[in-house]
Amino acid sequence: MCGIIGIIAKGRAIDSIYPGLIALQHRGQDSAGAVTYEQTFHLKKGQGLVTTVFNPKNITRLNGNIGIGHVRYPTIGPGGVEDAQPFVLTVPYGIALAHNGNLVNYFKLKKEIIEKNLRYLNSNCDAEVILNILSIELSKQDLSRFNPDILFDALKGVYEKLIGSFAVVCIVAGKGLLVFRDKNGIKPLVYAQNNGEYAFASESVALDMLGFSDFKDVKPGEAIFIDENKKLFSKQIYEGKKATCIFEYVYFARPDSVIDGIGVYEARLRLGEELGKECLKFNIKPDVVVPVPDTARGSAQMVAEVLRVKHREGLIKNRYIHRTFIMPTQEKRIEAVRMKLNVIRSEIKNKKVLLIDDSIVRGNTSKEIIGLIRSAGAKEVYYGVYSPPLKYPCVYGIDMQTRGEFIARNKSIEEIKESIGADILIYQTVEGLINGVGIGDRGFCTACFTGNYPTELNDEFMEEIETDRIKIKRA
Ligand code: SF4
Repeated sequence: MCGIIGIIAKGRAIDSIYPGLIALQHRGQDSAGAVTYEQTFHLKKGQGLVTTVFNPKNITRLNGNIGIGHVRYPTIGPGGVEDAQPFVLTVPYGIALAHNGNLVNYFKLKKEIIEKNLRYLNSNCDAEVILNILSIELSKQDLSRFNPDILFDALKGVYEKLIGSFAVVCIVAGKGLLVFRDKNGIKPLVYAQNNGEYAFASESVALDMLGFSDFKDVKPGEAIFIDENKKLFSKQIYEGKKATCIFEYVYFARPDSVIDGIGVYEARLRLGEELGKECLKFNIKPDVVVPVPDTARGSAQMVAEVLRVKHREGLIKNRYIHRTFIMPTQEKRIEAVRMKLNVIRSEIKNKKVLLIDDSIVRGNTSKEIIGLIRSAGAKEVYYGVYSPPLKYPCVYGIDMQTRGEFIARNKSIEEIKESIGADILIYQTVEGLINGVGIGDRGFCTACFTGNYPTELNDEFMEEIETDRIKIKRA
């Protein structure tokens, strides 16, 4: 999972890209980068947070009114500096590209490109593969006179080759800004226009901060090109079945974002309401409902409302520690939980506490949190999770890609409860998840909960992805 932004502005694009990337920082903390165009590309990228990579000096040289930016969270490759995005190519046009997503057939495509001597690849990043395939498909077009249809026709070939999730922003040098979204729209991509300026981003929060409003979503399978005169061209490249990642609403996106017309905060409130109904079936009588901060706050409030018990902040988060889910190793995640969370004893001691969390992947973080609550003197600890048991790898860009890492894969709910040390464990149902997020909309990817993958996925692809992740996590 990564964050992308693309701007065609009146003034310097980087002046919007930089704050936009800060607004998207939660989507990836491994590397950051931006490229702008004015006569030539001006590129800066590196490892670390946006504020680490960019400084007043390098921002000064990123000239031009058109630009793209990226924050990275590695799901393919080890995530070294050579994998930082955007990538730049010079044939048949100068193209700079950044993407959010994960190609399921990345290893196959990479092998084909190398074996057929089509292009030299310098990274382990699937964005470089997308860029090269776009370049190869563009080279097949009649390039004697540029028009947006050349791009759209090339994209037909690109869509035929790519399997997986991709939301892409590109600069075509001297021509304009091109964006496209995979045929299922697994990854979000939103845009807005304001006074002759266009901005595209993974989440509406980035555009909100830049003063844009009236957001629209790039449709699944749609490509949009804004030329240098700020004229918009759009084409449906591929008709696919919408399958937006439901985990964006559960965990990943910021609560102040709107994805495909659904407010993330509102979705989390409804998820809490659905979980509250599940809790009623267990006939528990907690003294207090406490969210695992920050993601679970809205849901916990709704669970408390449904159960008619107090809602309190009993866990406080150190804001300067990054999200534990996206730490690369389990040891780092546990260490980060201890540094990240502390208890407010007065809200916990001698109480029956119902903790509300967004999800359980491996169970180690939940176990640590329950241990913290018990050590603060809780009488009983119940654990409510507002998503269903995670059992299946995500092959679309969230780093839970190996079958072995899910506690729910081979354990019953009773066994998970024992393993994490809860007195009672209550999960959301799949129906509750879909109803909570979508109010009846069924156009979601729910593969990590249900095993129903929206794209082609064979054993070979799955094994290649798993082998890569296992190798990297052991390194
Ligand atoms: S498998 Fe899960 S995390 Fe991955 S895209 Fe689908 S819903 Fe999102």
